[in-house]
Amino acid sequence: MLSQLRDIVEQVSRVENVHAALQLLVKQTCLAMHTECCTIYLANEEMQRLELMATQGLRFHGNKIHINFSEGLVGLVKRSAEPLNLAEASKHPNFKYFSQLGEEVYQSFLGTPIIHRKQVLGVLVVQQKEPRLFDEMEESFLVTLAAQLAVIIAHAQTQGQWRLEKTQQAIRGIPASSGVAIGQFWWDNSQPLLSDVSPASALDIEREQEWLLLAIEAALTDFRRMRKKLDSEINKDTLAIFDLFTHLLNDPMLRKDLKAQIQKGDRADWAVRQVVETYSSRFARMSDTYLRERAQDVRELGQRLLYFLHNTENEQQTFEQPVILVVRELTASLLASIPKDQLLAVISLEGAANSHAAILSRALGIPAVMGVSLNLNTINGKQGIVDGYSGKILISPSRQLLKEYRALANEERELANMVNQRIEEPAYTSDGERIEVLLNAGLSADANIAVNQGVDGVGLYRTEISFLLQHRFPSEEEQTHQYKSVMATYPDKRVVMRSLDIGGDKALPYLPIEEDNPFLGWRGIRFTLDHPDIFLMQIRAMMKASAETQNLSILLPMVSGAQELDDALLLIEQAYSEVVAINASIARPQVGIMIEVPSMLYLLPLLADKIDFVSVGTNDLTQYLLAVDRNNSRVSNVYESMHPAVIMALDHIYQTCKQLKLPVCICGELAGDPIGSLLLVGLGYRSLSMNTSNVAKVKYLLRHTRVDELESLASQALTQPYGNNIYAMMQDFFELKGFSGFIRAGKK
Ligand code: PEP
Ligand code: MG
Repeated sequence: MLSQLRDIVEQVSRVENVHAALQLLVKQTCLAMHTECCTIYLANEEMQRLELMATQGLRFHGNKIHINFSEGLVGLVKRSAEPLNLAEASKHPNFKYFSQLGEEVYQSFLGTPIIHRKQVLGVLVVQQKEPRLFDEMEESFLVTLAAQLAVIIAHAQTQGQWRLEKTQQAIRGIPASSGVAIGQFWWDNSQPLLSDVSPASALDIEREQEWLLLAIEAALTDFRRMRKKLDSEINKDTLAIFDLFTHLLNDPMLRKDLKAQIQKGDRADWAVRQVVETYSSRFARMSDTYLRERAQDVRELGQRLLYFLHNTENEQQTFEQPVILVVRELTASLLASIPKDQLLAVISLEGAANSHAAILSRALGIPAVMGVSLNLNTINGKQGIVDGYSGKILISPSRQLLKEYRALANEERELANMVNQRIEEPAYTSDGERIEVLLNAGLSADANIAVNQGVDGVGLYRTEISFLLQHRFPSEEEQTHQYKSVMATYPDKRVVMRSLDIGGDKALPYLPIEEDNPFLGWRGIRFTLDHPDIFLMQIRAMMKASAETQNLSILLPMVSGAQELDDALLLIEQAYSEVVAINASIARPQVGIMIEVPSMLYLLPLLADKIDFVSVGTNDLTQYLLAVDRNNSRVSNVYESMHPAVIMALDHIYQTCKQLKLPVCICGELAGDPIGSLLLVGLGYRSLSMNTSNVAKVKYLLRHTRVDELESLASQALTQPYGNNIYAMMQDFFELKGFSGFIRAGKK
């Protein structure tokens, strides 16, 4: 039966038109299950009814046939979201005879819900004339088929292949950065065309060769990534094309020809066009039909190579007017490379609320929605609304909706004016407790470093973005120069610089790392300890940069054990003796570790005397504590920032640090979240490091709250088994205090 299942799915997924595909599916299912009738109904939530989409065996001549959710056995399957297997359907209390379907001839009934991401999209039913109880194997066959069908239907619905809805529906994604934007969608489908490349000679042959190699590597990584992402897809053809591309790109002949063409003096893109066209016409002349058809694939490969060739140039994207940028996968480096004033909002088909790109959107104050299913071709250039609070996207909205959202945007502006009034003053709670408010910086090559003079220093300077935006590792001198400008911006305040934290969702373009589980792999301190040269260079650069200001602290990311810390400390000591030999006035920096791997919760007392401070990275701590990828939109509902276990871990860390007299700060996103920041103060934390866009809001909230109120909320939170309860409890408090404007419905 398994092979039959695979056959059905493969046949169905090859059919372009979804209606024809469904018709094929019901026919094949009847054959496989030796039964006379199979029907697919799809749910129309707005009309609260199931609509018959395809059938083999029922009387259906293209007119719409509907069954209300409350009616009959099909309605029961939809409501209960469970399979129903009956040998004699007419004896069931919910049985209802629908004369227009002509199903009086059928006795037995097996129906199963078609479920996609917890939502019942429809019902798949088989019926038989003779009384027959379908056995367990048959039942599981139908359930499996329905699961596969769910993917096809969900995909077709997002592609707009049919519409069951009657009114304007919002598309929903994961809210990743709050705020409202109204404007035009812009989807970059301007792939470079081979035919547009004109003859050009290389100015520097070596550089062109290097450029080409980088593009080939980038393309290979992209194909591998795409293939892996599509691995669970049923359409084998889509997968095969990536294998073919990879194979071709690794072909020594092709590489040799490309190299030779550049060696002759041609620019890399012009070399690609010529070689690809030669290969493509060679394929086109072949007698075998299969090989002949590969000519087009070779051209497509050429286009991809061209794309990466152009992208390695890091050209800056410019728009005529600010846009709502739509991308397949938002990366921190893409976002960092576009001027902020050109972006009204961003929408990403991939990713979740705590990916680095999402963090950067929040840092920049740009509304963002991630993990969205959209038909890209239908939105380009259209007017739309992005609601970063709820994750809603509205395409070509009605006048009424535009009016409502404009009002919301105005409210936002008023709130921003209100909280910005006393931004320069230090943060005290209304009962006089001083809270240190620090800045998370570094994500955007630091145009924003000077913005916030109202902070008590920099609590986390992420050094990786300047590494991500280049074609090679920045030199010690370049790094020194950059770090110096950061420290000089806060000459009298502490600047905590984190050593390079690449890996995970931050891969260097010039050092592709291929791993099955990048977040559990070669990341942060693990990478830099394996590359002491890179680590030493960076630490020396930080120390040299601090010579005048003497305000540097060094923070080590992703430490999971004592040995890593020992090794890093040794290297830091080595770097210090090297720089102090040249400039004796350089002060020894304080050194701390990030608490983001759960092992540190237990090890902290044993390591405390080796370090000067700790900083809690709630983004990764949540990811590792809950075993949930912070970047994966499919499990974004499992990633709960206020999960009880996270709150308990934070309580434990605070209490341990207090006992050890170890300074502790929170630098994860929770510290800048309006609700999170107050909860953390309730747990005892007095040092919060956050994105610049949250500073004013958090200060305002602190000024209008007493510590004892927050302590009692925190102790209540520590007794809740559900994250939702903690969130709801905090939401009630916000309403009571008149802070609702800071959170708005739908967030988290
Ligand atoms: C964290 O993990 O909470 C953190 C601050 O580091 P990053 O988000 O850069 O991984
Ligand atoms: Mg982290």
